[in-house]
Amino acid sequence: MPQINPLERIFNMLEDSQWWPRDRLVEMQRIELSRLVRHAKSSSPFYRTRLDCLFHPNGTIDWDRWVDVPIMARAELSHQRGSIQSRRPVQEHGPFGWVKTSGSTGDPVEFLTTRVLNDLSVASLWRGQKWANMDWSGVMIHMAAESPKFKIGDVMGSWGPFWLRESAKGRRIFATYSIGAEERIKLMRQFDAGYSTFTDGMAVLFLDYLRSSEVSVSLQSVQFIGGAASEYIRRDFRTLLGADVVELYSSKEGGSMASRCPQGHGWHQNAESVLVEIVDDQGKPVAAGETGRVVITPFGSTTTPLIRYDQGDLAVAGPTEICPCGRTLPRIASFSGRLRHVFRRPDGGSVNELSIDARRQLGAGTWQIARVAEHSFEVRYMKRDWGVAPNLAEFRKSFAEDYYPEAQVKIIEVDNFILGPTGKHMERLDEWDPASQEGI
Ligand SMILES: [Zn+2]
Repeated sequence: MPQINPLERIFNMLEDSQWWPRDRLVEMQRIELSRLVRHAKSSSPFYRTRLDCLFHPNGTIDWDRWVDVPIMARAELSHQRGSIQSRRPVQEHGPFGWVKTSGSTGDPVEFLTTRVLNDLSVASLWRGQKWANMDWSGVMIHMAAESPKFKIGDVMGSWGPFWLRESAKGRRIFATYSIGAEERIKLMRQFDAGYSTFTDGMAVLFLDYLRSSEVSVSLQSVQFIGGAASEYIRRDFRTLLGADVVELYSSKEGGSMASRCPQGHGWHQNAESVLVEIVDDQGKPVAAGETGRVVITPFGSTTTPLIRYDQGDLAVAGPTEICPCGRTLPRIASFSGRLRHVFRRPDGGSVNELSIDARRQLGAGTWQIARVAEHSFEVRYMKRDWGVAPNLAEFRKSFAEDYYPEAQVKIIEVDNFILGPTGKHMERLDEWDPASQEGI
């Protein structure tokens, strides 16, 4: 038999397993979890006794106790990496490589990851692109960190599953997070690109530029990396570029974790490569329609086992029934942002997201809401013309309603925002209490 490459094998499996009966999917997850748990317990000091609640006296696993496994905070990964790392990495999962998160959204973490995690992640990304009908024979403007290997405008090869004939025609063009809107537009035109990757921070700045410059450029779709795009961003990409936004919920720790259902019924988890749980403060799963923390267990992370790792995001659990699209993959209804940037009212409830109306009242495009003292906030914004005159009194009223009446707000117009090294723009920022940015 001809040798089939690992990515092709995984991609083919994912094409199939999205339709598997639920029982078969659960069975597969248990096999993966069981391997990971035993490996972690026997080879990582951090897990030597941490998982004991899972084991029957005869050594078999009691799945009913899964929800009792303690949740790992990002701060633990940051401070106890040495103890978490496996003493006996699974060699077939290599080669291994270090990954780093920027620390712009909490404790910076750096850990050793595997080729397997990366393969699962790439194959899941492709599956999501296929759901969104992306055409792998087109041109993708790819965004990455600065690299000694490539310069802006270099052709990096294809971007779809490389063994497919259509992918062979596709080209991926190198660009960095730091390039400006003008340069990005120049690349799109030069290569007649149909696609471009974006992070949230890049997107808001880019859309603001398009609006103010009245330059016209079109794309088929935009691959959004990291998480969900706001309604505001989705609408602007549609009206200004004619582009759909294709989102991928992903992280360095968990790889590709979910993509939107092609028929619009929330998000489908990549259940073949990661267990995603939406849990309450006790670590128990929340009911469908309720909000909880995203807790992940990526199966491929065997060098740095992450078992019930708190991703630092909030999500609404999806319905438990099989999706109307026919895919059996479990669902997430929506994402409600990064946990550490949820501001609380004095009564303990969380504040509401400010609406598009509030943006209009302020005449704001990109903005950032920072808590600077216990009940004081700064709204920093870049001006945007909504075609109506701003009304600050109305904005203050909206703010008092969505936040809380005692909240003080200072409004500051800025010319620009400085993005972090990964292109992240922080819409909500807590500058008052450093402890609240630890992700725990
Ligand atoms: Zn679906």
